[in-house]
Amino acid sequence: MAPSHALRCCKRALNWVPVLFINLVIGWSYYAYVVELCVYTIPNNAERISYLVIFHLFLTMFIWSYWKTIFSKPASPSKAFGLPRVEKEAYEREERAEVQQEILKKVARNLPIYTRTAGGAVRYCNPCQVIKPDRCHHCSTCEMCVLKMDHHCPWVNNCVGFSNYKYFVLFLAYAALYCAVICATVIQYFIKFWTKELPETHAKFHILFLFFVAALFFISVLSLLSYHLWLVGKNRTTIEAFRAPVFTNGPDKNGFSLGFSRNVAEVFGDQAKHWIFPVYSSLGDGHSFLARLVHIDPEQANSVLQQNGKSLADGETNLSVHGNNIQHTADDSKEKVDEGQMVSVTVESEP
Ligand SMILES: [Zn+2]
Ligand SMILES: [Zn+2]
Repeated sequence: MAPSHALRCCKRALNWVPVLFINLVIGWSYYAYVVELCVYTIPNNAERISYLVIFHLFLTMFIWSYWKTIFSKPASPSKAFGLPRVEKEAYEREERAEVQQEILKKVARNLPIYTRTAGGAVRYCNPCQVIKPDRCHHCSTCEMCVLKMDHHCPWVNNCVGFSNYKYFVLFLAYAALYCAVICATVIQYFIKFWTKELPETHAKFHILFLFFVAALFFISVLSLLSYHLWLVGKNRTTIEAFRAPVFTNGPDKNGFSLGFSRNVAEVFGDQAKHWIFPVYSSLGDGHSFLARLVHIDPEQANSVLQQNGKSLADGETNLSVHGNNIQHTADDSKEKVDEGQMVSVTVESEP
């Protein structure tokens, strides 16, 4: 085995250590709660059963969303975002950056891409050899481009992005609820052990420690959950919160925001019955997103319209992306956002 390959395997195995740690903590909390608290400490049967039912309910939802976050493969750009063979060969032969950009711009015209690099160039990933769709970023740990990448999370050893963002938010929510249930039900026994109302047994250590650990996790998870709920409401990823996406008309941190209810629906889906379960219900395909105000050049507008079976005509044209109505008004930068349903696209006329 080559040393570099062995090193890589070692690194991959080490990446699982935080996941193993979390699972060991969950395993111990299960033993401490079920055996030490419910079996050995709680004297009353009705209380014991009701605690066990609630505990298992939240534990199931927590583990379910946690494992879905871990094992959802990050979504990567489709083949449509790779360069066609002729352009790819021309791109690789070319040494001048500006000519390479021209090749990328020509290909990008046929793609629903509205964001650029800070310097205004088409975003291209050299290792993956794809034009990056809006909100897509290359993860150096996963060694791939990830659609709507939020961040790489060591606690789940996976990229959090388009394919699993809903599961990740639910994982945080159920982790907070799991810890809250433990704290709320353990506190009276915690006080009794602390004030020596209950005898010194081996359960004492587990129950005191269980309360401290659950309270600690509750505070840290709750702060992370609050931050991500705020991001969901704003339709921003963690990366975009730190660095505003750059559109062809400049950076705009609210560029993808479509109004609160629409932003929530993008992640959780439009059917309330799916919201609390870690099942797939996010909207869209992760490759193209509705933008609040997008300036695109007329050629790009034409090709996007043609993809939707329509042609650019004078006056008002309905430009449909993802089944949402985008109102096109030539030479008009008026923004029309009605609960995120109507988005104006400004087409700059050529002189
Ligand atoms: Zn990449
Ligand atoms: Zn990653």
